[in-house]
Amino acid sequence: MPIDDPPRGVPLSLGTGEFFQLLRDREPRTRADLVAITGQARSTIASRIDALMSTGLIAPAGMAGSTGGRRPATFAFQPGARVVLAVDLGATHARLAVTDLASTVLAASDEPLSIAAGPGVVLPWVVRACRDLLAAAGRDTADLAAIGIGLPGPVEHSTGRPINPPIMPGWDDVDVPGILGAELGVAVLVDNDVNIMALGEHRTAWSDVSDLLLVKVSTGIGAGIIADGALRRGAQGAAGDVGHMSVPGADHVPCRCGNTGCLEAVASGQAVATALAAQGLEAADSADVVALVRSRGAAASQAVRQAGRDIGGVLASCVSVLNPSVIVIGGVVADAGEHLIAGIREAVYRRSLPLATQHLRIVTSRAREGAGVLGASAMAVDHALSPAAIDALTG
Ligand SMILES: [Zn+2]
Repeated sequence: MPIDDPPRGVPLSLGTGEFFQLLRDREPRTRADLVAITGQARSTIASRIDALMSTGLIAPAGMAGSTGGRRPATFAFQPGARVVLAVDLGATHARLAVTDLASTVLAASDEPLSIAAGPGVVLPWVVRACRDLLAAAGRDTADLAAIGIGLPGPVEHSTGRPINPPIMPGWDDVDVPGILGAELGVAVLVDNDVNIMALGEHRTAWSDVSDLLLVKVSTGIGAGIIADGALRRGAQGAAGDVGHMSVPGADHVPCRCGNTGCLEAVASGQAVATALAAQGLEAADSADVVALVRSRGAAASQAVRQAGRDIGGVLASCVSVLNPSVIVIGGVVADAGEHLIAGIREAVYRRSLPLATQHLRIVTSRAREGAGVLGASAMAVDHALSPAAIDALTG
């Protein structure tokens, strides 16, 4: 193939960072394979391979199958070359993992931690936990390529700072990437907990689907949007905040955001618990609601199903805007069994147009409580292996 006629879609000059993306599928390839795929000169390919070998990100992967004569060497991506730290901080817990560059978990921990203790307590704790976990995985901070962290509140995407997070006193506008980056010496990617759940669920369970909505139903309600295969955060990072969309007929219900009639004020685990407590049942939070449903409490089951209908009414609007092929329901209340999802299905299928629901699946989370950590890992890996980061590493 002449050099001025590369395959369609491949840039004429493929830098090392772009070239590396071809190898991220971990398939071993020969120099000749890579010349054929890229349409680039053999000498260019050789220098790209040398540059990547020097970082350890690719390595010889044995010999290709014989086609007669000398068998050529193959090269493949080495996900173990470096590691990332993945952190999922909730209201009262911290899940952490050290993973390789294919998001395989090498060491993990799950500890109680109150986010309301503030950044002065939580961030030094994360730094200590990170060092402990790296040691447990037999690695050190020099192996660390990036950190991905999810926070239980709104995060401004361009700065990685939480903005007016309702359940995180003391965290408003705190420079989380700056503080952690100064301690651990790597890039720190921050997002809200629902976005990293959406990313984790998509990568681990639905990678063949390009349009997915993940809805977390727990103390609050939020959604993460995967559209055209990528996480969509919107202009500031606030996309998917479905918890404060309004529910018809609920104008009298006040919400913690200052507005009234919000979905979260009517249908969150906390809202259902409060309503059941008013009926004299012992329900203080989402976990109590789940326990009541599991013990076959009729009032709790009916309340969760109605919450599902209210959520489904709002999701029907989301379906009209986004046309997802899968809606994944996660969060503590999803553990209440079929009642929540049955209510959601009922409302979505009733209120959406047939073309949008023809192939729509509404399911519970497969990655479950691991979704956040896996998504945080994917976010960190995507940054560490981006063309720009690889070019900086090999430049
Ligand atoms: Zn609200």
